[in-house]
Amino acid sequence: MLGRVVVSRDEIASMVSRLAVEIEADIAGRAPVFIGVLKGCVFFMTDLVRQIAKPIEMDFVQVSSYGASTTSSGSVVLVKDITVDVRDRDVYLVEDIVDTGTTLTDVVRLIDARHPRSVKVVSLLSKPSRRQVEVEIAFLGTEIDDLFVVGYGLDHAERYRNVPDIHVLQPS
Ligand code: 5GP
Repeated sequence: MLGRVVVSRDEIASMVSRLAVEIEADIAGRAPVFIGVLKGCVFFMTDLVRQIAKPIEMDFVQVSSYGASTTSSGSVVLVKDITVDVRDRDVYLVEDIVDTGTTLTDVVRLIDARHPRSVKVVSLLSKPSRRQVEVEIAFLGTEIDDLFVVGYGLDHAERYRNVPDIHVLQPS
């Protein structure tokens, strides 16, 4: 069940606005491609790109790692690939949360193999104390403690994604 609020909807909204300003200033030249990592990114991605007043393209990739558990299995399976050609394009990879760093490392490798001009990671949340693989997050919402959180796109066994605030998951 839902526990205490870790990041409120108001805090999320101000983080998204700040990130949109930072990213908009970073966009140079041709329209970049925003690639969201499904499914956790959905609300973050759609809230973020609507605040960027520059031409952009969107695509999504889906990988699976967690299943119904709350700890990483450490192996990532590609479920849905991108369809946009990212060769020589600037890519912003949009993640909900970076935990061990395994998923992001694999997704960055997948995108890099298509020869983009640049790849920068945008993540709403990060749990630095859980990191096993070092990853560079160019644009970060906020760091959180080692907690399993749900809401604003983040699930547990596909539930709670539609919850507006981010809560800690409480064992019931
Ligand atoms: P990593 O590969 O960095 O260990 O895990 C990244 C993925 O695990 C995230 O994209 C997310 O789907 C899932 N994940 C990691 N921590 C949490 C968490 O606290 N809550 C939820 N709902 N998912 C998480």
